[in-house]
Amino acid sequence: MSEDSTDRRLEELSREVLERPDEFALLCDFDGTLAPIVERPEQVEVPPIAVEALAVAAERLGLCAVVTGRPALEARRLTGLDTVLYAGNHGLELLEPGEEVAIPDPLLAGHEDDAHDFLATLDVEKMEILGIRSEDKGPIVALHWRGSEPTEELNEWIERVGSDARTAGLQPRSGRMVLELRPDVAVDKGVAVTALLTARPVIESAIFIGDDLTDLDAFEALDGLVASQKLGSATKVAVLSGETSDLGLAERADIELSGPGEVADLIVRIGG
Ligand SMILES: [Mg+2]
Repeated sequence: MSEDSTDRRLEELSREVLERPDEFALLCDFDGTLAPIVERPEQVEVPPIAVEALAVAAERLGLCAVVTGRPALEARRLTGLDTVLYAGNHGLELLEPGEEVAIPDPLLAGHEDDAHDFLATLDVEKMEILGIRSEDKGPIVALHWRGSEPTEELNEWIERVGSDARTAGLQPRSGRMVLELRPDVAVDKGVAVTALLTARPVIESAIFIGDDLTDLDAFEALDGLVASQKLGSATKVAVLSGETSDLGLAERADIELSGPGEVADLIVRIGG
């Protein structure tokens, strides 16, 4: 998409938001979108300008939500904003503004430990040799290898673990230098976005900003909501980097941005 048409689209959006802020939803991924990708997830920092933009958006808009693969409480701690809604673990849990506890999706019942149980079967020594770290996200276990040597052995190991996880009844999902082992529960960012928006019939227009494969589910959900006239319009924003250029996000998006800096600018511009 050309800079000109992106500019026009943003102008339209900011006009729309200005006229009817209550009918507008801002939905935003966290890593690689609000905050720059870092080698280890615990090192992440949200730029202050993004925090400020989100804070204003949460105050003004009908809905302001962070839809993330991180646990909801962790995402809130990292932004420091309790006025925002957090759909954590790809929608498996929901943390409403001001609430203390994230509510797990009822579908998760009985599957809370599935990913952990599978992790316990993996060869820890081998993982160390290959430079693979596991991250405990509650019902989801993430295997990260950012910063490790991308050898054929590593790729093969990851591929095998993915296929073993599937055999064990999990839902393995690949992302940017990460393999997530999720319980076999039919919830993803798309399901989460659909639930959030259909629960708020006043919302007429929504924007989703994301940078990774899991965000395509949310793009698809927005398309579905528009097609079924549950939403008047939707804007899908892809945050692209060298890593994400081949993920298929760009061709599905209405707007392309180059990184979290531009995401913060967009949120400010459309009324955050
Ligand atoms: Mg992301």
